[in-house]
Amino acid sequence: MQRYNSYSKYLFDTFGCKVNKISLDLGFTCPNRDGSKAIGGCIYCNNDTFVPPYARSRYTLEEQMTNGMKYLRARFKAKKFIAYFQAYTNTYSSVNELEKLYRQALGFEDVIGLAIGTRSDCIDEEKLDMIQRLAEEVYVLLEYGIESIYDKTLDYMNRGHDYESVLKAIEISKGRGLHLGAHIIVGFPTETEEQMLAMADEVSGLGIDVLKVHNLHIVRNTPLARMYAENPFYLFSYEDYLAFITKFIERVSPDLILERLFTDTPHQLLIAPVWPKNHLEVLRGIDAELVGQDTYQGKFYKS
Ligand code: SF4
Repeated sequence: MQRYNSYSKYLFDTFGCKVNKISLDLGFTCPNRDGSKAIGGCIYCNNDTFVPPYARSRYTLEEQMTNGMKYLRARFKAKKFIAYFQAYTNTYSSVNELEKLYRQALGFEDVIGLAIGTRSDCIDEEKLDMIQRLAEEVYVLLEYGIESIYDKTLDYMNRGHDYESVLKAIEISKGRGLHLGAHIIVGFPTETEEQMLAMADEVSGLGIDVLKVHNLHIVRNTPLARMYAENPFYLFSYEDYLAFITKFIERVSPDLILERLFTDTPHQLLIAPVWPKNHLEVLRGIDAELVGQDTYQGKFYKS
């Protein structure tokens, strides 16, 4: 028995086969990099950490889709696909241009939907109306980077928007037939562990469907790497994180689907924390911790 709702199981149950997301980098930027809000971006951001080699903006959408599907079929036996507009801010363009790209990706055989990663300050009613029309035809997951519910932390990470902005974006996104996703980061030195755990309570009440939890990584070629070199601070050890994420899972709503529970960074880009485990071992470690404590998602959820 799996003790939390995993996104891969949700997709299998919903579509009746193995579904994987194809990461795409269509050459967007973001207002936190191009000077509209800030220059330099969020202090932890290095898009190379999560975009696979086939998803590079120097390749066309067609090349990324074709190579992505080939890779995912071979590696994970994927049968169907969600085109994942992942890198940077994927609603940061005109409505017409966005619709053209989204529809182009949906035109590939075996693509059953879209996932669109964005910032709360890069969405509006006009864009949502267009995305809503797509959601009447296919599965659409709109993912917001919340990162933290604390403005002090959002300031520290140079996020360029506050938590109120996230609340407004989620509010105008509801009731449109979209699946709403969010990601948060735990481990900033601006928060206590109890404040991080309280994010489980808060995000459970937002009306979102899918949550990604990332533990903070210090990644090469980021402002945070320089800050950390000058002033190192505590980052979750593997053992401490297992204890933390178990408590987090217990507090989160039993209705949420958990797409990610920790961060993966290619070893050549990761400065800290370096855990002596690979992806599968961490997943198994979390499962073993839940079983060992005989606990499960939502055990201590307070609605
Ligand atoms: S994390 Fe997202 S919003 Fe922040 S700088 Fe990177 S691409 Fe922009």
